[in-house]
Amino acid sequence: MVSNPSTKALPSLASATQHFFKEASAHLKLDPGITKILEQPQREVVVQVPLVKEDGSLEVFSGYRVQHSNARGPFKGGIRFHPSVDLDEVRGLAALMTWKCAAVNIPYGGAKGGIAVDPKTLTKRELKTLTQSFISMIMPALGPLKDIPAPDVNTSAETMGWIVAKACELAGDDVRGIVTGKPIELGGSLGRREATGKGVAVTTLRLLKWLGKDPAKMRAVVQGFGNNGSYTALYLAQAGCKIQAVSDISGGLYKESGLDIHALLEYVQTSDDHLLAGYPDATPMSNEELLKADVDVLIPAALENQITVANAEQIKAPIIIEAANAPVTPEADAILRKRGTIVVPDILANAGGVVVSYFEWVQNQQGYYWDLDTVNTRLTITMHRAFDDIYLLANEQHIPLRTAAYAIAVQRVARALEQKGVLVC
Ligand code: NAD
Repeated sequence: MVSNPSTKALPSLASATQHFFKEASAHLKLDPGITKILEQPQREVVVQVPLVKEDGSLEVFSGYRVQHSNARGPFKGGIRFHPSVDLDEVRGLAALMTWKCAAVNIPYGGAKGGIAVDPKTLTKRELKTLTQSFISMIMPALGPLKDIPAPDVNTSAETMGWIVAKACELAGDDVRGIVTGKPIELGGSLGRREATGKGVAVTTLRLLKWLGKDPAKMRAVVQGFGNNGSYTALYLAQAGCKIQAVSDISGGLYKESGLDIHALLEYVQTSDDHLLAGYPDATPMSNEELLKADVDVLIPAALENQITVANAEQIKAPIIIEAANAPVTPEADAILRKRGTIVVPDILANAGGVVVSYFEWVQNQQGYYWDLDTVNTRLTITMHRAFDDIYLLANEQHIPLRTAAYAIAVQRVARALEQKGVLVC
C-alpha cells in the first residue's frame, strides 16, 4: 500500500510549487538537509480501488493520498475526483498545502488525495461505494490527529458525509473530525462554504488598505464563478468594488458600470446548466479578454496556468490576486515582477478555506460550536495577521509578496523540523 516517493518528472503545478519553494529556500539560505527533506513528500499511498458497477461490470480506479509534511501538525488537504488526477499532480498539491497552512500559521501540515475518475460517468450509488472503498484502503494513513481530508475538485460536503460514515464504522468510534467541509448536521462549521471567497476578499481589501486605495474606486474582474470566484465577487461588491466582469466555462460577462453579483448568483443557481451564459444584463466577453481587461484588480479564480508567457505582457491590471491555485506560471510571474505588478500568491490569498476547515476541526475536538460571527471574525483576524506579516516582510526586504509568503512558510516548517532534532548528529 505504501510506496517510496520517486523522483519522476514533475508537471506544472508540482514544478511551480517546487520552483517557489526553492526560491524561498535560497533566499533563506536554508540548511541543505532541511531543503532535501522538504523537496519530497514524507509518504505516498497509492491504491487500486475496484468497483462493481450497477450493470455488473468491474472497473478499477487509481487512488492517491500524498502526505508532504506533518512537521507543524496533522496532514491536511482535499480529495479530488478527476480523470487527470495522478501522483505528480497530487504531490504538487500536497506541498502547496504545507506552505499554505504555514503561511497563515495554522497548526497543520500538507497533504492531498484523489481518484482518477470522471464522476459524471458514475451513478450516485457507485460514487458513494467508490469513495467508501477508497477510504477503507487509505484509512491507516488517516485520522483526526493524523491526516484530515476535505472537499476539492468534484467532491463536496456530501462526499465528506460518506467518508465520516465509513471512517466511524471502521474506527468503531465517533471520528467525525477526520474530515472537514462536512454538512453542518455532521459537525461542519458555519461559514465553511463561503470561507475561501471571503478570505480572498478580505485579503484583497487588506492590500488596498495598505496601498491607501479606496475599494469604492476599484474596478475588478473575476475569472471563474464557482464556489471561490462567486463569493469573492460578492464580498468585494459588498465592500464597494465595481466588478466589471466575471466568467466561467461558458465564457464571460462585462458591464462597465459594474455587474449585479446577487442577480448573477441567482441566475446561475436557478438556470438548468448553472452557467453564466444567457444572462441578459451584460455584454459577452471571452476569458482571454477578461484576463487582459483594463482594471485595477484581476482575480483568477478558476484554474491553474491562466497567466503564462503567452499573455503576461498584456495583463493591464496592476494587482493580481491568486484566488485559484497556481493561476500564474513561474515564467509569467517573472515577467509580472519586472513590470511591477503586485501578485498576492495563492498560498495566502485562497487560504480562507483551510483556515475555516481548521476552525471546524477545533469545534469537532471541543464538541462546542461557534456562531457565524465568531467564525467570520476569527477568519478575518487570521487572514489580516498573515497578510500583514507577509506584506511587511516583502516591504522590508524589497521582495515580491510571493517570495515573502514562501519565506515565512518555509521558515516556520524548517524551524519545526529543527526543533524536532532532524539536524542533530
Ligand atoms: P468550482 O468548480 O466551484 O468553480 C470553478 C469555476 O471555474 C466554475 O465557474 C467553472 O465554470 C470555471 N471554469 C472552469 N474552466 C474555466 C475556463 N477555462 N475559463 C474560465 N472559467 C472556467 O471550483 P472552486 O472551488 O471555485 O475552485 C476554483 C479554484 O480555486 C481552483 O483553482 C481551486 O483549487 C481553488 N481553491 C478552491 C478552494 C475552495 O474552498 N473552493 C480553496 C482553495 C483553492
